[in-house]
Amino acid sequence: MGDFDITEDDLTTKEVTALARQRLTYEDVFDARGMRTKAWRRRIKGTDKAVALTDDECTGVEKHRLKTRSAHCFQCKTIYFGFQKQFRNPGWVYIAGSRSLKLIKLGNSIDFDRRADQLRKQRWGGVSDWKRLYAIEVRTRGHVETRAKNLLLTSLSFQE
Ligand SMILES: [Zn+2]
Repeated sequence: MGDFDITEDDLTTKEVTALARQRLTYEDVFDARGMRTKAWRRRIKGTDKAVALTDDECTGVEKHRLKTRSAHCFQCKTIYFGFQKQFRNPGWVYIAGSRSLKLIKLGNSIDFDRRADQLRKQRWGGVSDWKRLYAIEVRTRGHVETRAKNLLLTSLSFQE
């Protein structure tokens, strides 16, 4: 156990469920209780923790304590504004490849051509040679992406 680890008892059932939805567990949580935001945001960078358990409650109705590494509410932001929205909405599921990294990326986007440009411009993974290998228009892009990733996970070791 490191200094900033927590146990499952530190979390509410709702928090455990919210983490599980993103395939995370209490082991992915950094104990930021009693720390100022500035301090834990600096400390969490040196760890592989995805989420921080804080004393600060979010401004939402449910007053969540879990924060993303960038100090946004994990339960409001990640699930409602990001994940669930793209989960249900139509768009594209794509496979992009980088020859220099010998890597493929499976993802989803509203508009595939723009996303391919973004991967190049943002030098995703440190390179700018991303090319579209495959793209298909679907009704629920997040759902199809998740199913495709789960299928890959069962057949080979897969890194996000
Ligand atoms: Zn919240």
